[in-house]
Amino acid sequence: MEKKLSKKFIQKQRDRLIKEREKLISQIATLKKDDPFADPDHASDNAAVDTDVREQIGHETIQAEIDDLEKRIREIDKALMKINKSGSYGICELCREPIPIARLEILPEAAYCVDCEKKLRK
Ligand SMILES: [Zn+2]
Repeated sequence: MEKKLSKKFIQKQRDRLIKEREKLISQIATLKKDDPFADPDHASDNAAVDTDVREQIGHETIQAEIDDLEKRIREIDKALMKINKSGSYGICELCREPIPIARLEILPEAAYCVDCEKKLRK
């Protein structure tokens, strides 16, 4: 069986990664707007303590979500680099075996095959 990914498939994955990246960036922008700390009046509003606590929790939750999205963007960037520069897209970073197409269809930025991903998560 031919293991090498077709140019057409890689092109399609590249387009998907770029679209996904744009989506993540706009999600981050939306989250940042929702962040109570982004409110310019925040520091001077002399809000009640319970409001401050709620704002603190809101800020931390939003920050955690932004961190997750930024991590995904970094993974997407890495996958795009592999497509554009090193030509190693679709190769597992750990065992150097090709990542099954079915997995790349679900997760275009996948850097590891399922087995290695499991090992890394342990
Ligand atoms: Zn692997």
